[in-house]
Amino acid sequence: MKMSKMYFHTLRENPSEAEIPSHILLLRAGMIRKLVSGIYGFMPMGFRVIRKIEQIVREEMDAKGAQEILMSAIQPAELWQESGRWYAYGPEMFRLKDRNERDFCLGPTHEEIFTDIIRSEISSHKQLPVNLYQIQTKYRDEKRPRFGLMRSREFIMKDAYSFDKDWEGLDKSYEDMYDAYSRIFTRCGLEFRAVEADTGAIGGSDSHEFTALSEVGEGVIAYCEQCDFAATTERAACVDEPFGENETELPLEEVFTPGKKTIDDVAEFLNIPKNKIIKTLLFKVEDEVVAVLIRGDRELNETKLINALGIPEHLLEFADENTVKEVTGADTGFAGPRRLIGVRVIIDSELPKMKNMTAGANITDYHLKNLNYGRDYEGDIIVDLKLMAEGYPCPKCHAEVKLARGIEVGQIFKLGTKYSVPMGAVYTDENMEEKIMVMGCYGIGVSRTMAAVIEQNHDDNGIIWPPSIAPYHVIVTIVNTRDQQQMELAETIYAELTKAGLEVLMDDRDERAGVKFKDADLIGIPVRITVGKKASEGKVEYKLRKESEIIELTTSEAMERAITFCFSSKM
Ligand code: ATP
Ligand code: MG
Repeated sequence: MKMSKMYFHTLRENPSEAEIPSHILLLRAGMIRKLVSGIYGFMPMGFRVIRKIEQIVREEMDAKGAQEILMSAIQPAELWQESGRWYAYGPEMFRLKDRNERDFCLGPTHEEIFTDIIRSEISSHKQLPVNLYQIQTKYRDEKRPRFGLMRSREFIMKDAYSFDKDWEGLDKSYEDMYDAYSRIFTRCGLEFRAVEADTGAIGGSDSHEFTALSEVGEGVIAYCEQCDFAATTERAACVDEPFGENETELPLEEVFTPGKKTIDDVAEFLNIPKNKIIKTLLFKVEDEVVAVLIRGDRELNETKLINALGIPEHLLEFADENTVKEVTGADTGFAGPRRLIGVRVIIDSELPKMKNMTAGANITDYHLKNLNYGRDYEGDIIVDLKLMAEGYPCPKCHAEVKLARGIEVGQIFKLGTKYSVPMGAVYTDENMEEKIMVMGCYGIGVSRTMAAVIEQNHDDNGIIWPPSIAPYHVIVTIVNTRDQQQMELAETIYAELTKAGLEVLMDDRDERAGVKFKDADLIGIPVRITVGKKASEGKVEYKLRKESEIIELTTSEAMERAITFCFSSKM
């Protein structure tokens, strides 16, 4: 491609709405364009990257015997009502009506649609297993769309669904996908970890998230260097660490704590450690109020709470001041476990083992000391609610856990029969008995992967694409386009490299060399071959985007190096 002819517009300034490198660079390099918040279009070079990632995904999915199809993005409500998710999915789903007032949605995911196809077309064990996938645009009206392609409202996803005869079959399908995903992200040039994950709104039993390590990631993973434990912090089980279990239970005491509303305030005022205080958090779940009790030095893991309550995520909200007053009879900041009226109480599993705790008295400006479980308060549900933190004991081997930030680029789930039961996806086995299909589902954020690769591969000057997904492999920069010799040599290199199977960009624009170098860096083409004054001697400059060194080489040496470099890292 000749750059003089290419539809290509870079931005000189950093776009004000962009905060992270991938978002800034994708906009600046003219690879994406924003339509409205969270909705982007792909420009020629950006779209080439998307197609490359898609191609890698296709090759690895096909290698595992998965077959590509393409379903509609628009989906009828009835299927979602059958699975029970029309209601559970909440405001993240884009909903619409047709002219006859029939309900539809723009697919945020496709479990129902694929299950519907399979149940109507497969009836015998001989037709199983099947793994179907698609690469398609998904729609989610995210609460906080941000960071460009990272969390958008319209995005490209590869989603696959496996249907097996039994759990053993699912285990195999799942393993295959785990393997395919590892290969896909490796080929895309990502540094990633596969970690145990929560199953969230999709449901099911086991799940792994593929997390690209990055400081800007919204996800946090916990891992252990002494054993193989690795999980998202949402998922990570925490070890109870009660102490003072043999303390004598002291008499309950009401203490005056004027204006002391936070755990820190109370700890300081009463001169007690934070881990001897109970934090009481009040939530609203539709019409119900729920009190959550956890030790003062711990953070609540909302995912664990949602799972314990068995509710969809969007139904959980903090109780407002009036509600707090109503159920506690006190101002916010003085809630505690005693005498809560009409409130369900969920207790972190550590608390019942702790003695003589302090908590709000449900009276403004008062706290209670020496609260003991069983004697002074009780809970409706007792469960681990702790959010994993750096240094907490590993749930497997008790060594200290480490945390890292990351971007979730893919997730795989063992769905089991979560959809096949309500939707009646059944088959007849060898003995003509009716059996339920066992499902798995597997997603990759294709557009998010593109952003994640940039987060891991950029510098102050721009993107540094790995050759495997670069929009072009080589850029031939002509220093002076009015020089006939330079033009001719560039054309030869362009033709030869193209013939060798590389994708080549030729910067033949009538611009200063400095501008061209800047653009080449910004768009991140892995190899730059500069044709300048020494064209008359058949010499060029060779530079890798990821290195600063510029080497003078003969034309054929430069081409050979470019070919070797691109093919060896292409995998
Ligand atoms: P997240 O927790 O980040 O919202 P998710 O768990 O809801 O992700 P899945 O339903 O598992 O995501 O979707 C499969 C993949 O699609 C994710 O692993 C991610 O890479 C991608 N993805 C999900 N939501 C978005 C989004 N809003 N924008 C871009 N990619 C997304
Ligand atoms: Mg999500």
